[in-house]
Amino acid sequence: MNSNCPLCTTDGGELLWKNEEMRVILADEPEFPGFCRIVWNEHVAEMSDLSIDQRARLHHILILVEKVVLEVMQPDKINLAALGNLVPHLHWHLIPRYQADVCFPASVWSEKQRASDHTHLEIQRAKVPSLKKKIQEVLGVL
Ligand SMILES: [Zn+2]
Repeated sequence: MNSNCPLCTTDGGELLWKNEEMRVILADEPEFPGFCRIVWNEHVAEMSDLSIDQRARLHHILILVEKVVLEVMQPDKINLAALGNLVPHLHWHLIPRYQADVCFPASVWSEKQRASDHTHLEIQRAKVPSLKKKIQEVLGVL
């Protein structure tokens, strides 16, 4: 626990599921509907700080969520990233990407390539309630 760390002091977004080791949140990223994060609960910085079993369980959850995001959000591509340069508390970004999104094909942290496509965003935002429900259904049985 690090009292200066936003992922120790808050969930980091809308909490969708949690167990004793990790949690899945929906990020508040208006340009990227369905942007999820898998956050390790304990304040560790690197994947190599986890035991082999812990890494395997984190990877398992990451892939389960990826499959739900693929099914519900129907993206052109999934981006997975573990950066943590600003918040060095282990978390994976799981981002559904579309050719119409503001940064495609660059990373979501890159310079915008185009203006927001409001029709695209409305269509994708409308899928988010189903995404939340499905993630909770799939992980709820674990
Ligand atoms: Zn932390």
